[in-house]
Amino acid sequence: MTGVVVAVDGPAGTGKSSVSRGLARGLGARYLDTGAMYRIVTLAILRAGIDPEDQAAVGEAAQTVQLSVGYDPDEDRCYLDGEDVSSEIRGEAVTRAVSAVSSVPAVRARMVDLQRSLAAGQDSIVVEGRDIGTVVLPDADVKIFLTASAETRAQRRNDQNVAAGLPDDYAGVLADVRRRDHLDSTRAVSPLRAADDAVIVDTSAMTEPEVIDHLLKLVRQRSEAVR
Ligand code: C5P
Repeated sequence: MTGVVVAVDGPAGTGKSSVSRGLARGLGARYLDTGAMYRIVTLAILRAGIDPEDQAAVGEAAQTVQLSVGYDPDEDRCYLDGEDVSSEIRGEAVTRAVSAVSSVPAVRARMVDLQRSLAAGQDSIVVEGRDIGTVVLPDADVKIFLTASAETRAQRRNDQNVAAGLPDDYAGVLADVRRRDHLDSTRAVSPLRAADDAVIVDTSAMTEPEVIDHLLKLVRQRSEAVR
């Protein structure tokens, strides 16, 4: 039996990353975090001293960035030129610049090619991102689009920040959530939207284990139906 390909898309703060990892674990599948790939490129751009808003320079520099990510849902290891940059790509500088970098068509073209080759193979895989069901893997067996209100997403992110020792700043986090939503959903190339055949799951009132359990059932039902 060949594996099942699951696309999980949605905006920041829906619990998408933890839920996708939990889903991959439950299915015994590989896991691909495409957001991490855009973050690695963004770090390379910043380190090269390139202005993230300079689309031509960003697009050109992105073509030669040597990045690699793992498939293990229990490990969050990301490399730039062989250097482990797993923590640095989650930092504030990268988070601030990543939307601009990922809006450059030449960046997206290279990432989409890479993501398709990384997702290929017989084993099951859960691929997490923004445009997986619509652009990267339009033939995925199961497409899930996670949503939650902006307020819920900001609250979750702020709670995580506080737990990590960062300042309590709900208003600032909410403004950032809205800013990223706007940039991601209005960009010309691959705007954030649910695929027509995606199952939309609103996680506002659900705990993480509830979401994972719900998705596991959904994937099992759907993947039986497509075989
Ligand atoms: O998922 P994460 O928050 O790490 O993604 C960081 C950024 O990368 C997103 O805000 C978005 O701008 C971009 N991204 C994208 N397409 C993807 C995954 C992420 O444009 N498939």
